[in-house]
Amino acid sequence: MSSRIDLHCHSTASDGTLAPADLVRAGAEAGLEVMAITDHDTTGGWADAAAARPDGLRLVRGAELSCRWHGAEPSISLHLLAYLFDPAEPALAESMRRLRVDREQRGEKIVEKLRADGVPITWTEVYGYAAGGSVGRPHIAQALIRAGLVTSVTEAFASRWLGARYFVPKADLDVFDAVAAVRAAGGVPVFAHPRATKRGRVVPDELIVALADVGLFGLEADHEDHSPAEREEIRALADRLGLVVTGSSDFHGTHKTVQLGAFVTAPEVYDKIVAAATGVPVLG
Ligand code: AMP
Ligand code: FE
Ligand code: FE
Ligand code: ZN
Repeated sequence: MSSRIDLHCHSTASDGTLAPADLVRAGAEAGLEVMAITDHDTTGGWADAAAARPDGLRLVRGAELSCRWHGAEPSISLHLLAYLFDPAEPALAESMRRLRVDREQRGEKIVEKLRADGVPITWTEVYGYAAGGSVGRPHIAQALIRAGLVTSVTEAFASRWLGARYFVPKADLDVFDAVAAVRAAGGVPVFAHPRATKRGRVVPDELIVALADVGLFGLEADHEDHSPAEREEIRALADRLGLVVTGSSDFHGTHKTVQLGAFVTAPEVYDKIVAAATGVPVLG
């Protein structure tokens, strides 16, 4: 693989396990030329990542927005990557702030459900694992591991735990509003892991067609949660709609097994994303 462009990585600003500064250093050590920091619903890691960026690593500042499509019953949650948007644009910043507040309330509800069944974890513990970043189920998984009830984050996502029995939905942005908000902030929206069936229901192609009409720029095709057939389906759909396709690790440190640079994006696609953005520049 010639390009070393990884456009989807998480830090401790959300549910990754490397601090933003360590994330960019790890990116350079892994031989990446370009890394995007895309924490869930926050730009909280941007400054530390930028300050620690090693020479030779270009940094794309981004986020991964929690979204929902209301065109199915029940509605379907999905993730939207947003690159190089202006973090000070008020509507998008306020939307992300609301999502983070809800993540805390929802995390507390999940912990209450677990405690009601005698699981010995506390919200204080979970909130501490998030360390000021966006709270996510992986932080609750950490508490379940500490309590000796599961041995991995993946196991904590099984249906008897956070996957179903102790699942509480979180607030999400309407996906059409999110695409518009990212564009309005000068950013470039890319649909993250659109066919990741292992995470739950996925949206139909008709939604992707409609999103392409309102400003969606690309689809993440090469991702560990997609089978080879799903990657090809996404490529075909992107071709038909004039969307770019990206590849990325969705690195979460030790919360997942995937390594930095495990999947990468083609240089010409990266160039198109950069050319389409007007919010903030690439650093480096
Ligand atoms: P949340 O954002 O709180 O709903 O938690 C979802 C996050 O948990 C995703 O961003 C992934 O990082 C992680 N995740 C989801 N499913 C799994 C899984 N099966 N195994 C490990 N981590 C997962
Ligand atoms: Fe995550
Ligand atoms: Fe995601
Ligand atoms: Zn992600």
